[in-house]
Amino acid sequence: MDQYDYIVVGAGSAGCAVARRLSDDPALGVLLLEAGGPSDGFWNRTPAGVARLHKSEQFNWNYMTLPVPGLRDRTIYWPAGKALGGSSAINGMVYIRGDRRDFDNWAKLGNPGWGWDDVLPYFRRSETNARGSSAVHGGDGPLHVTNPAIVHPTVVDFIRAAEMCGLPRRTDFALGEQEGSGTVQYTIRNGERHSSYRAYIEPVRDRPNLVVETGAHVCRILFRERTATGVELIQGGQKRTIFANREIILSAGALRSPHLLLLSGVGDGRQLQNHGVPLVAHLPGVGRNLQDHLTVRVQAETNRLSSYNRDLRGWRKYWQGARYVLTKGGYLALGTSSAAAFFKSSASVEYADVEISFRPMTFTAHPSGKVEVDGYDAISGSVYRVRPASRGQVGLASPNPLDAPSIQPNYLGAPEDLEATVAGIRVLRQILSTEPLASRIRKEIVPGSIADTNEKLADYVRRDAASVFHPAGTCKMGNDDMAVVDSNLRVRGIERLRVIDASIMPVVTSGNTNAPTIMIGEKGADLVRSERLVPQEREALAPTT
Ligand SMILES: Cc1cc2nc3c(=O)[nH]c(=O)nc-3n(C[C@H](O)[C@H](O)[C@H](O)COP(=O)(O)OP(=O)(O)OC[C@H]3O[C@@H](n4cnc5c(N)ncnc54)[C@H](O)[C@@H]3O)c2cc1C
Repeated sequence: MDQYDYIVVGAGSAGCAVARRLSDDPALGVLLLEAGGPSDGFWNRTPAGVARLHKSEQFNWNYMTLPVPGLRDRTIYWPAGKALGGSSAINGMVYIRGDRRDFDNWAKLGNPGWGWDDVLPYFRRSETNARGSSAVHGGDGPLHVTNPAIVHPTVVDFIRAAEMCGLPRRTDFALGEQEGSGTVQYTIRNGERHSSYRAYIEPVRDRPNLVVETGAHVCRILFRERTATGVELIQGGQKRTIFANREIILSAGALRSPHLLLLSGVGDGRQLQNHGVPLVAHLPGVGRNLQDHLTVRVQAETNRLSSYNRDLRGWRKYWQGARYVLTKGGYLALGTSSAAAFFKSSASVEYADVEISFRPMTFTAHPSGKVEVDGYDAISGSVYRVRPASRGQVGLASPNPLDAPSIQPNYLGAPEDLEATVAGIRVLRQILSTEPLASRIRKEIVPGSIADTNEKLADYVRRDAASVFHPAGTCKMGNDDMAVVDSNLRVRGIERLRVIDASIMPVVTSGNTNAPTIMIGEKGADLVRSERLVPQEREALAPTT
């Protein structure tokens, strides 16, 4: 009989960290199950290969949302990684932790142990930062976090112009205070994408107590009354059942973790009844509280030297390719945005709630999936409200585990999200029209100068906005009726089952979500392990600052 101490479902950002840390104890047998396959080809490793992974059938689940009322009933494309590394195997590699108040708020919402001071040691433990070891950065963790291989002069001018507009210059966004503008760091090591798999699992893949299985689509969790005992999965067309002596940990991401709970009978009783799924536990919060960052573009044509579009086209593209192969540097070694700016959308907001991701290049994503760098010189800024008030939900589209979940993000359901986004566009426009950046800009392409009133900008947002791919919150941690896991990440009312991934965030962090999800994996693994330890051993396990 297939049996392990721990079964971790999903080898994504969090799952890889969980499996690595659990298997650090050689006495524990750990199985890591992943529906996708390996992701170690040239374009998986090359940062610019992110364009090739867009809509990839092999590495991406390629979800579509239901029609979103706030976006003129458009359906929105939602990529998610389906490979070793999960979404960290296809993401933009930007490393942002969030604001200290995000985590302090999690603690206030009934989650002791999740405040900034509590989670900082786990951020530190996760990383080897190019800035070296310090009170905030790790110097010997699995995940390598590095500075951009190249900083284009337009990026420097963006930061200067933002400073002229009152945004302080930030040399490091990881300190718990993000307001301001600066270059970002990336999860890139020696010029190659450092996915959670490459960081956490690849170096320990030969451990005798760690088994990694790919092509293993988990279909449901098995229960003895309210105790999780195993999982049922399909692998190579065959059904398998695997049992856990101790616990099952769902790390299948903010869409698939709640989906798996629902498929297994844990969720809102009425929804389960509608789909003929036998009820194990009525937990109405499963799949609710869905949050995502909705982004809108501002693009502007520039003069010749102010964009690197032309470096990625024609013969120059081959020069950049050769440069990358020979030196692991140049434009192919960059993450998807070069600089970020964080600011408050209005004076009444407590701390920065809008992010701009800026890059001195533009591209067009064709419906076929092909992503093409534009044939003119241009820059782009993506504007998004990082603490949206809108809440959506993930549910069952059918009881078939191989069907995608239904996704209703309900973007702009809360009117203040639209107001904040429009305010963000105005701030970006102000930066673009401030020296030293202004003299690089020829004209705004989208939304274009015709969008000159708040109403026209709001209309543009509804017509053009898209996901920036940060879903979270669908198995929220807390102690209210809609909470799905407690602050130890145990599924409420169920024994031996936890969720450890982006779904547990009660409120999405103010920024990109990969780094905080990896932190959740680090801390979650300690919560699992420490439960069986005496206080002294527990203390030895916890990282220190
Ligand atoms: C295109 C894209 C770009 C992004 N860019 C950035 C960025 O630049 N910076 C940033 O901070 N964040 C970024 N993000 C977000 C970030 O990557 C995610 O928040 C983070 O990876 C989520 O981690 P997770 O562990 O919750 O889920 P995932 O990393 O998605 O892992 C879930 C894993 O579970 C597997 N799985 C799912 N269902 C099953 C099943 N039934 N059986 C077995 N396995 C299963 C999946 O295949 C996947 O490998 C981006 C995301 C995407 C999709």
